[in-house]
Amino acid sequence: MSKQFVCRDVDSQGNEIPDSGCGPIPHILFDGYGFGDRQFEGVMFKAMLVDGKLVVDSVDDWDSDPYLSDFKKDKIIKRAFDFIEDYDVATCPNCGNDVDAQPKDI
Ligand SMILES: [Zn+2]
Repeated sequence: MSKQFVCRDVDSQGNEIPDSGCGPIPHILFDGYGFGDRQFEGVMFKAMLVDGKLVVDSVDDWDSDPYLSDFKKDKIIKRAFDFIEDYDVATCPNCGNDVDAQPKDI
């Protein structure tokens, strides 16, 4: 078994429906608003598993972005990591639905 992010639909009780949604997905997306409030609202980050370890990176190219290039990327990525490590909800990169932000054994 290995851990992976999974996209599943949920029923009206909020329970995951087996074999629904996109299934295993390579990464999840999340908005910087969750940890950076308005400062990073709309700035998208992605989380993936590399050799079973959580890795977080930004979606945007910080060097060419006049707003983001004012921030220390390493520090912000660390904040994003600490946030998503303990958070519940992220976005599926395929269908845009909410997905569990925690990887599962599949
Ligand atoms: Zn999906």
